[in-house]
Amino acid sequence: MRKCIFKAVATLAVVSFVVMTSSISASCTDDGWYSIDEIDKYIESFEKRMAAEGYPVDNSDASNYEDPKVAHPTAGTGSTGKSSAKVCDHEYDSSVTTEPTCASEGTKTFTCTKCGKSYTESIPATGEHKYSSDVTKKASCKEEGVTTYTCETCGDSYEEAIPKTTHAYESTVAEDATCTASGTRVYICSVCNDSYTEDIPASGHGRLETVTEEPAGLFTKGKQITRCTDCGEVIETTEIPSKATDGFSRIGNFFKNLFA
Ligand SMILES: [Zn+2]
Ligand SMILES: [Zn+2]
Ligand SMILES: [Zn+2]
Ligand SMILES: [Zn+2]
Repeated sequence: MRKCIFKAVATLAVVSFVVMTSSISASCTDDGWYSIDEIDKYIESFEKRMAAEGYPVDNSDASNYEDPKVAHPTAGTGSTGKSSAKVCDHEYDSSVTTEPTCASEGTKTFTCTKCGKSYTESIPATGEHKYSSDVTKKASCKEEGVTTYTCETCGDSYEEAIPKTTHAYESTVAEDATCTASGTRVYICSVCNDSYTEDIPASGHGRLETVTEEPAGLFTKGKQITRCTDCGEVIETTEIPSKATDGFSRIGNFFKNLFA
C-alpha cells in the first residue's frame, strides 16, 4: 500500500495538512502526486515551518487529521474529495515528565487542556556530573599513583595522576670521619634502593695533652710533645733543656735578677 498526496492539497495546507491515501500500489510518479518519500520530505519541511512559527507539531497523532478518502486518479474509481480537518485552538499546559540527568535528556510533556492532544519536548542533559573519587593506584617513590573520579549517576569517569612520593631513605655510615679526614654516609631508599652519599665533615682535633716523651738528663735534652687525645697525632714537639743547662740558666737568671 503506497501513500500519495495530491500536490495541490499539500501546497495549500498551511495550518494543517491532509494526507491522502491511495488504495492502489501503483507508482506515484503521475503528475500532480507526490511519492511517499516526497511526502515525508514535504511534511518535514512543513513541520519545520510550523515549529518556526511557534506551532506545536506532532504528526504521530492521526486523530488530528481526518484522512479524506480520495481515489488516485489512475485507479479509475472516480473521485469525490472530502477534506475536513478537525481544528482545535489548543491551549497547552506543560509538565516535566522525566527529569534530565547529567547524561540523559529529560522530557517535558505539553497537553492541550481542551482536546487532550499532547506532544513532548526534550530537556537537554545537565552535564553536571556528581563525581566521587577513589585512589585506584597508590603513588610510590617509583611510580605516580592514580585517582579515579566516577560520576555516581551516569558512571562517567576520568583519572588524575598522584605525584610520586618522596623516597624513604635510611642512612648508614660507610666510613667514619676522623679529626682530619671526612667520612661518608650512605642513604638508601628502603622501597626502590635509590641511593646517594654525603660527606661527614672531619671533626677537627679533640682535647690536646702535653706529655714528656723523653725526660731531660743532666746533660741531655728531653722531648715534650703535644698530641690529640682522640687521634694521637702530634701537633707540637718541644725540647726540654738538660738539667745542667737548666740549672745554669736558673743560676744565671738568679744573678741577672739580683743585679737588674
Ligand atoms: Zn486542543
Ligand atoms: Zn554523570
Ligand atoms: Zn625510593
Ligand atoms: Zn685528632
